[in-house]
Amino acid sequence: MSSKKPTQRYYRKRVELFRLIDKIKLWPSRKGTLHGIKTIEKAGDVGWVTTHCGKNFRVSNSCNSRASRWLRNKWFKDVCGACRVPDWKLKKYSSTHFRRHYGSDLLQQDAQVRPSQAAGRP
Ligand SMILES: [Zn+2]
Repeated sequence: MSSKKPTQRYYRKRVELFRLIDKIKLWPSRKGTLHGIKTIEKAGDVGWVTTHCGKNFRVSNSCNSRASRWLRNKWFKDVCGACRVPDWKLKKYSSTHFRRHYGSDLLQQDAQVRPSQAAGRP
């Protein structure tokens, strides 16, 4: 067991949905259940998401969609049992913050900005 606190991550609020779900691999359904994403197939601004419990649906790459909002606000009632989302993934998600003027826009791989690095920059 480790008592290490999870790394706090900061992302911009206006990141594209695809970049966001590529990173966190979680999907909030309309019923408020958080699913684990198995694959995302992208074709331009639409994509097909397959969850670990076998759901398959079309999503559009918008930062203002319901899913984007719910992900940012962490609105979900429960976690899908069939998806078996691991604890570490949920912890990682809960230590992810969304800020308007601060954080990674996820345009580059591993471009996560940490508070210590960002402090003091112009
Ligand atoms: Zn599921």
